[in-house]
Amino acid sequence: AAKARGRGQLRFFDETLDAQAAQRLRLEAELRRAIAGGELRLHYQPKVLLDAQGGAGGRIAGAEALVRWQHPERGLVPPGEFIALAEETGLIAPLTDWVLAEACRQLQAWQQAGLPVPALAVNLSAPSFADPGLDERLTALLAAHGLAPDRLVLEVTESLLMREPDATAARLAALRARGFGLALDDFGTGYSSLSYLKRFAIDELKIDRSFIVDAAQGGRDSALAKAIIALGRDLGLRVVAEGVETPEQAAFLRGHGCLYQQGWLYARSLPADGFAALLADGRPLGPA
Ligand code: C2E
Ligand code: MG
Ligand code: MG
Ligand code: MG
Repeated sequence: AAKARGRGQLRFFDETLDAQAAQRLRLEAELRRAIAGGELRLHYQPKVLLDAQGGAGGRIAGAEALVRWQHPERGLVPPGEFIALAEETGLIAPLTDWVLAEACRQLQAWQQAGLPVPALAVNLSAPSFADPGLDERLTALLAAHGLAPDRLVLEVTESLLMREPDATAARLAALRARGFGLALDDFGTGYSSLSYLKRFAIDELKIDRSFIVDAAQGGRDSALAKAIIALGRDLGLRVVAEGVETPEQAAFLRGHGCLYQQGWLYARSLPADGFAALLADGRPLGPA
């Protein structure tokens, strides 16, 4: 009926809502098909380790898998446009299953090709992290691909953990006991109580990009970035700066002891073959 009406005609509010709901349903159906039908892709971005004294370049010490949707008409769609919908509709479960399986398949393929492949991080949404069956499935998946659990790092966001700190601490400890690496993503954005850091069984703290952007300018973000680095290091965590784009940011972070960095200064996220080429090449990434 809405279609039969001409352009420029008055639309009632509830019809607009109907249209929005219909659009959402379409997108949901499309995403469901995309997951089942092989339209998801993983891209890979290196996490580099800098030398405390040496040149500005860093060697690949890890990688993060980032999901994309290769849409038949819209091209490569970034996760910001479909992860929230997946979480709201329950599609996040099959999406996460696909991501984990593909990450393991790719890790095994790179290992078999003799590449110096680092541990691979995957992002987990709240429902996936909370899924009590995750531990078993991951353990089985890794075993099926001949991979040790420490080849996989699970990135969970700070805001996710703060909702139920007690349940979270237990959950993290259980995953840790199975040998997976654990990283706290987007750190600094989630109003965390710093005391939780002591209780959470994590290996890695990722400083959110929002603090990195102006970190080298002096001012508040510098102070916060310095404090997070010092705190993380004192707690024995690997501290990774996210979204490093400029040599100034990199130098500031390194000067304050943050030797693990990730960002466009070193490499963008790449399809599997591009990332494999970086691994094979072996040269340091970033400014020489
Ligand atoms: P994130 O886990 O914090 O990932 C970092 C994001 O920053 C990525 O965006 C990455 O491409 C981008 N980035 C890296 N270096 C730079 C830089 O130097 N400058 C700028 N401006 N950006 C940089 P992407 O790939 O669009 O992913 C966005 C978010 O989507 C991720 O944030 C993560 O929360 C979520 N996500 C990605 N893949 C998955 C997945 O497989 N499952 C789930 N549940 N979430 C995912
Ligand atoms: Mg992440
Ligand atoms: Mg992040
Ligand atoms: Mg982020």
